[in-house]
Amino acid sequence: MRGLMMDRPLLISGLIEYAGEYHGDTELVSRTVEGPIHRYTYAEANRRSKQLANAMTRLGIGMSDRVATLAWNTYRHFELYFGISGIGAVMHTLNPRLFPDQLRYMVNHAEDRIVCVDLTFVPLAEKMAALWPTVKHYIVLTDREHMPQTSLPNALCYEELLAAEKPEFTWPSFDENTASSLCYTSGTTGNPKGSLYSHRSTVLHSMAACTANAIGFSVEDCILPIVPMFHVNAWGVPYSAAFAGAKLVFPGPKLDGASVCELMEAEGVTFGLGVPTVWLGCLQYLEQTGKRLGTVKRVLCGGSAVPLAMIATFQERYGIEFLQGWGMTEMSPLGTVSRPKRKHAALAPSARHAIRAKQGLPIFGVECKVVGFDGKIAPHDGVTRGELHVRGPWVIDSYYKDEAATKAAFDADGWFKTGDVVVIDPDGYVQIVDRSKDVIKSGGEWISSIDVENAVMAHPDVAEAAVIGLPHPKWDERPLLIVVAKQGRSPTSGAMIDFLKDKLAKWQLPDDVVFVPEIPHGGTGKILKTRLREMFKEHRLPTA
Ligand code: ADP
Repeated sequence: MRGLMMDRPLLISGLIEYAGEYHGDTELVSRTVEGPIHRYTYAEANRRSKQLANAMTRLGIGMSDRVATLAWNTYRHFELYFGISGIGAVMHTLNPRLFPDQLRYMVNHAEDRIVCVDLTFVPLAEKMAALWPTVKHYIVLTDREHMPQTSLPNALCYEELLAAEKPEFTWPSFDENTASSLCYTSGTTGNPKGSLYSHRSTVLHSMAACTANAIGFSVEDCILPIVPMFHVNAWGVPYSAAFAGAKLVFPGPKLDGASVCELMEAEGVTFGLGVPTVWLGCLQYLEQTGKRLGTVKRVLCGGSAVPLAMIATFQERYGIEFLQGWGMTEMSPLGTVSRPKRKHAALAPSARHAIRAKQGLPIFGVECKVVGFDGKIAPHDGVTRGELHVRGPWVIDSYYKDEAATKAAFDADGWFKTGDVVVIDPDGYVQIVDRSKDVIKSGGEWISSIDVENAVMAHPDVAEAAVIGLPHPKWDERPLLIVVAKQGRSPTSGAMIDFLKDKLAKWQLPDDVVFVPEIPHGGTGKILKTRLREMFKEHRLPTA
């Protein structure tokens, strides 16, 4: 027997329509690419998204056409999120930090018809244009006054396009499984792989993100997504903020500690979201200036492992609740969020920080299983390791037009293989031990590079650290520790190893330590271990 309930499609246009109608005077504030602060409301954002929808339609964009963006977090990019997807077209966010060859591949693979470009990225688009034959128009995200001289073919001015259109537009209704947006993962080897989200997956992900056990945005919040809108849709924040009717603040191109902290202070931000590097920058700024973040109640950090020392500093020195999230582009991205449970309330602060340092509890909708290296499902005992496989309504079921990648990424039961090696403890918290390709295989034992990195990051002289495995004649692989020292400090190898001695088992201690001025990062801010392995492939361990 079927339930007698309305079958109303979950559509992205519904989010902006809701925010415009019921949170119409709630502010969206942007630090613009041109410089000044821009402010307006959800009501105006909805109106301008509709003008954009009219403009896109006039340019011949319809259902399923791909429109790319090369843009920072600003109100114009926010409008693109709704104006493009709202008409049934597919918004393809390009990560400008990727290599030109990856950008060439992605635009051609997606067959983008239009590219919308921020002023900062006009020179990049000009270099790429000849390699992007499917692109018919470039829309520069600025007004007439700031419109640059450009060699881009068919360059249009965003504000002029909008000004020519009426704000009346009825968002079309269609199947909620229609594609809405496209993000490619920056594979460190091979071509980027496309995750093609749907309206249904996006709206469900926003609803789940707004539950109290997950991110938990509400009408009381003022949110600053420092995570870029070109990386997994800024973790879905533009959608979930509209869902919650929360004030939104966009940082534009300025992502350094000082700029981010000043913006949080000025706008009364209650909730910030970013990768560990961003929060490290903020902590350094606060340390140098002696300032505090008076209005911030929570931060969410994810994208790579979070050092325990950072959690303790936020919680204890600044009184800010620190949440860690884990996810992947292929998961829209949210999978787990780390919050201590009610029964943990009586624990000592350090024990509660240790819970926050785990990647967290799966949120409802994301099913997790750990497949051990014997192929058996691992128990939730906190020690048995295996690869994490997931499924759920906002997890991809295949890569966009990529059979080979799809074939490699799913198990026989159709679960997505994350490539993360994890344990799950008896309370259900997932803890990432390593990426399966980064774990160090030493004499039949596994050394988690994340464990060693976390331990060494607590040293007061260490700014950043990475651990890679180097070949070893006896043990197969042994760890090399690569350290960037804090400015003005010059720690020694011996000091590093001594510091780790009571934190790691003897066989987990690095065989050697090298100091470098900087560690290479990829397009999404993660440490490029492939590059480090390449850089140190000739390095001889003293034990070898
Ligand atoms: P990309 O694939 O483009 O690098 P993703 O954001 O999709 O970007 O990367 C997902 C991976 O990032 C995860 O599989 C995991 O290895 C890592 N990751 C994400 N969040 C965390 C976290 N909180 N702790 C440790 N690793 C994380």
